[in-house]
Amino acid sequence: MDSIEAKIKSLALRLGADLVGITTTALLADGPPSADPRYLLPSANSVVSFALSLDRNIVQDFISKKSWRPHCENRKTIAQTLYTIGDRLAEQLRTEGYEAVNVDLNNNYRPEKGVTDVTEMTEFHPAFSHRYAALAAGIGRLGWSGNLLTRDYGALVELGSVLTSAALTPDTPMPDEAHPCDGCKMCSLVCPVGMIHPKASTQVTVAGVTETISRKRPNTCCWIGCTGYEGLASSGTWSNWSPYRLGRPLPEDKQEFDSLCIRLQKADPQMQAADNSFNDYRQAVFDPDWFYYTVCGFCRSVCAPSREDRLANRKLIINSGTAALKLDGSHVVADDNAVEVRTPFGLRVIVPREELSKERAMPRNRPGQFPLDREVVEYLCRHLNSADAKNRTPD
Ligand code: SF4
Ligand code: SF4
Repeated sequence: MDSIEAKIKSLALRLGADLVGITTTALLADGPPSADPRYLLPSANSVVSFALSLDRNIVQDFISKKSWRPHCENRKTIAQTLYTIGDRLAEQLRTEGYEAVNVDLNNNYRPEKGVTDVTEMTEFHPAFSHRYAALAAGIGRLGWSGNLLTRDYGALVELGSVLTSAALTPDTPMPDEAHPCDGCKMCSLVCPVGMIHPKASTQVTVAGVTETISRKRPNTCCWIGCTGYEGLASSGTWSNWSPYRLGRPLPEDKQEFDSLCIRLQKADPQMQAADNSFNDYRQAVFDPDWFYYTVCGFCRSVCAPSREDRLANRKLIINSGTAALKLDGSHVVADDNAVEVRTPFGLRVIVPREELSKERAMPRNRPGQFPLDREVVEYLCRHLNSADAKNRTPD
């Protein structure tokens, strides 16, 4: 008869997982606090970690700015599959008499002192780290970027975890000689906000494995780049898919970064939206009208399994140009005539010039649009259509 471990793994693979492994609470005990599964399930003895790979062709089109939405849609489909796999694994474990929790995929952070909601967060420590579990379960290793790298898919994976009271037999972490990161540092070169230091390092130990990874800028720095409050690289020649600009250099100091991030989050319409994924990530992922807004993740997208592909991906990114927002809510590549317009959200937005010279009706709220884009488009249309501002570019 099949062992419970074999049953769980084959179920995960049947349901669409590309990789699956098992680790234990005892093995994770030497890791950082977010490696402890007992925070979410006090009786946890083991963790089942599983991964799905992203579509490589779609990722290529995303980083080269050939197309934006397909990668967002691919991520949403993958997130739905990960939730479904986790639910079925948890169900199976419960049928066998154990407790089990399917860990939220994202946006579930540990409380921070003196913080009332996510807009005031600055550390963003997850309730449970999928990456640490995947490292301990032998699915991959942490690269210089700090992302989880696998042998077959590089960093192009999304992760899920199920915690259980079952005392399962663990897999062994991937050995050093199979480590997928060769230190090419392409991840560092494609981060528009310079989050990943190219030389300075730090170490993290999980399940007896010590990884040397980049020393990063404060987490609020990635939040600013990954949410898209600043999309432009310091060279000024390329951006991620965000059409937004701060209009001034990023701070150096953590306190300044943190207070800038809080200000931007407080002004961000996304945080007030009813379909805010910070309220309920699972619900957002299964909502057909919710758009999985993705403008960055370039540190991951660049990291293909082969070095040759990583170098080529970096070229694609730095030659991809910069992003602009059209008044129909789409993101496009800006041409030389694009203009930068101030918005009431503490950000400037890049808009193709011809968009501003058209008379327009106010757009209706459309499902599948990002709240910030929607509000900015409405602001631009209001401004353009108001009598005193006619024929004038908003300032
Ligand atoms: S891009 Fe290169 S250095 Fe960065 S994580 Fe991937 S393999 Fe490692
Ligand atoms: S997600 Fe984007 S902003 Fe964040 S570290 Fe990666 S490349 Fe930088």
